[in-house]
Amino acid sequence: MRREPLVVVGAGPKAAALAAWAFAWRETRRTWSSLPELPPIHIYERHPVLASSWVGGGYGYSDGTSQELCTPSSRDVIAGANGPPRLPHPARAMFMSQLGRFSYASYCASHRIHPVRYPSHRQFADYVGDVLIECHRAGAVDVVGLLAVAGLPAAAAPQVQPHEVTDIEPMAGDLWHVTVGTDAPIAACGVVVTGPGDAAEPFARQRGSAAVDARYRDGKTYWRDPLPARIANVQQLLTTFADGSPHVVIVGAGGAAAAIALDLIQCFVRATDAAAQDDDEDAGNALAITFVAPQAGLFTRGESTWEDRTLTYDELWQKLSHELRQAAKAQLVTGVVYRRVLARLNRALASAALEVEPGKVVWVDDGLDVRTGLRPVTDPLRVIVERSSGAFLTLGARMIVNAAGFDARWFLGTGPRGVLKRPAPIVALMRHIDLGLA
Ligand SMILES: Cc1cc2nc3c(=O)[nH]c(=O)nc-3n(C[C@H](O)[C@H](O)[C@H](O)COP(=O)(O)OP(=O)(O)OC[C@H]3O[C@@H](n4cnc5c(N)ncnc54)[C@H](O)[C@@H]3O)c2cc1C
Repeated sequence: MRREPLVVVGAGPKAAALAAWAFAWRETRRTWSSLPELPPIHIYERHPVLASSWVGGGYGYSDGTSQELCTPSSRDVIAGANGPPRLPHPARAMFMSQLGRFSYASYCASHRIHPVRYPSHRQFADYVGDVLIECHRAGAVDVVGLLAVAGLPAAAAPQVQPHEVTDIEPMAGDLWHVTVGTDAPIAACGVVVTGPGDAAEPFARQRGSAAVDARYRDGKTYWRDPLPARIANVQQLLTTFADGSPHVVIVGAGGAAAAIALDLIQCFVRATDAAAQDDDEDAGNALAITFVAPQAGLFTRGESTWEDRTLTYDELWQKLSHELRQAAKAQLVTGVVYRRVLARLNRALASAALEVEPGKVVWVDDGLDVRTGLRPVTDPLRVIVERSSGAFLTLGARMIVNAAGFDARWFLGTGPRGVLKRPAPIVALMRHIDLGLA
């Protein structure tokens, strides 16, 4: 048995799912000693909290409290698990019962938390952190640098010493060299990379412009401002200019775009409620949002029984060609909005003026006339949109939100944060992803 560890990059729900499986496997193996031993599993997290993408505090894709989980909490870190293939029935039954300890329902029961169907991101992060802490304590995985004590949901985010994986390199003999921070590389028998990556920026923007920098947000930075700051921001958007340009241009029409539009409108409602109480004249203005995306609208992701079965049962999944699997995966995450968010957005639209501009944003600047060096006082940002016909359109905006998606290939060596040196072509990598997602 190999003793080189399996390295997991990131302590989010995927790491928690893996940890729960490792725990259940170890417990099952106590009775069925003929089962192979797992390699040690080392989980590294670059931020000082577990489930950092969900917890808020400026680390991830949420402020933790304003967004709820879009999928029901019953789709937890063990959902859909049938147990390891080829395990004899009694062993599988034991495995599944051990795994059941890590369901969201079990977590709520053991911590006396009232289970909700759509917990906030922060509540979900507490659950994910709890799974990781339990599995670490039981010795099933090593969450490297873990400082937390379990059993304190909502009291304080589970803490961990940050360990950023900075380099992954394939070695001879199916091994990998993994570098954490500036330490010497360690040998690993496998690497699991997690997380959706940083915001992709499929357009150019003027660098070094204070106006652009101050009014530019993406799917991560938008949530760094706490709620009171976001409300104040919207208040400022409504009062700063009076030239008829949209208040906000949102690049993209997928999940991040819809979530941010919804939050902007909710902030607007709170801002205008406060203004109305102060008898402010601007209280009646609607928030004007323009989505720019190369598609016909905001589409919901498919959520059908057929689709769920295809994604859950390996034998059905294996019957699809590589291309059909790619198309099915794209419909899960790219350019699609969860039904629940879209329903809330539709209801909120009464308070907003919404426009859609088909096309791609290619350039954003502060509208400064470089020949004269002049900029009108009311000048908003300038957003250049390219239509599919090749024609260009200029939009004004007071704030621009890049919600064009995340860089799912972030770990490849080519990107700014790429850790996988000498990366295999992405198609070859995708083909080699096995049923266990390794
Ligand atoms: C705003 C938003 C809302 C979403 N809502 C839902 C939802 O409701 N339901 C759903 O099923 N899916 C949702 N998703 C999709 C979600 O990304 C996936 O569910 C994903 O599987 C989350 O699990 P993860 O562990 O892969 O990623 P994450 O939870 O993002 O965890 C990845 C971790 O890796 C760490 N990390 C990254 N790079 C390094 C490095 N080099 N070294 C060490 N650590 C590193 C990060 O800090 C992070 O903690 C949402 C995504 C976003 C962006």
